[in-house]
Amino acid sequence: MSLEQFKNRNVGVQHYRMLDLSHTPQTGWGQFKQVVRRTLSLELFVGLKVTLREMTKALFFGKMHTTKYPFEKLPVGPRYRAIHEMKRLLESGHYRCIGCGLCEKICPADAIRIETAYGEDQRKQVQEYTINFGRCIFCGYCAEVCPELAIVHGGRYETASEQRASFSLFDDMLTPIDRLKEQKEFPGYGSVSPDADKRIHKTPLAY
Ligand code: SF4
Ligand code: SF4
Repeated sequence: MSLEQFKNRNVGVQHYRMLDLSHTPQTGWGQFKQVVRRTLSLELFVGLKVTLREMTKALFFGKMHTTKYPFEKLPVGPRYRAIHEMKRLLESGHYRCIGCGLCEKICPADAIRIETAYGEDQRKQVQEYTINFGRCIFCGYCAEVCPELAIVHGGRYETASEQRASFSLFDDMLTPIDRLKEQKEFPGYGSVSPDADKRIHKTPLAY
């Protein structure tokens, strides 16, 4: 399924077929007669024929209506709010978060914890940054409020884990330094523009 098909939410009324409910039996005897009539008119085999037809299409012509998860995955929309990612500055590779604490303050689920301290250069450094994904409701406020485009929602939606603490540490969410070139600008909340990735060759900040 392509992303365009997936994002097509057109469920206009023209696709609906209205049922004629005027002949629905109201009494037990009427329902019994309907069952007998339908059985004798072989409606069961009509259903089986439809099943066999769809099964043949799926098995021999590749027209499958389901996805073989986890081997196949449906594409997620670019604004889907999945597990967070922390971004790095494109030039220096340093993490973008300045420890301002806005995301911690705005979080309605009280899921974010930040600890900061002043470094030797008297700039604030993030000592610890965690998101408790047991509490997070994926509202997107933290990504929206971040002034540095540092925290965004990525596309990884599989949140199952053996440990509740998984995925929650700063380093787990931070772009690996060896994959800095693959880092993409966020197209959703707080983004610069939809085609920023093409246009931006430097971190979209003045410093
Ligand atoms: S998505 Fe919402 S609930 Fe989750 S950490 Fe961000 S602000 Fe908090
Ligand atoms: S709002 Fe952004 S820059 Fe501020 S602490 Fe949160 S992630 Fe860091």
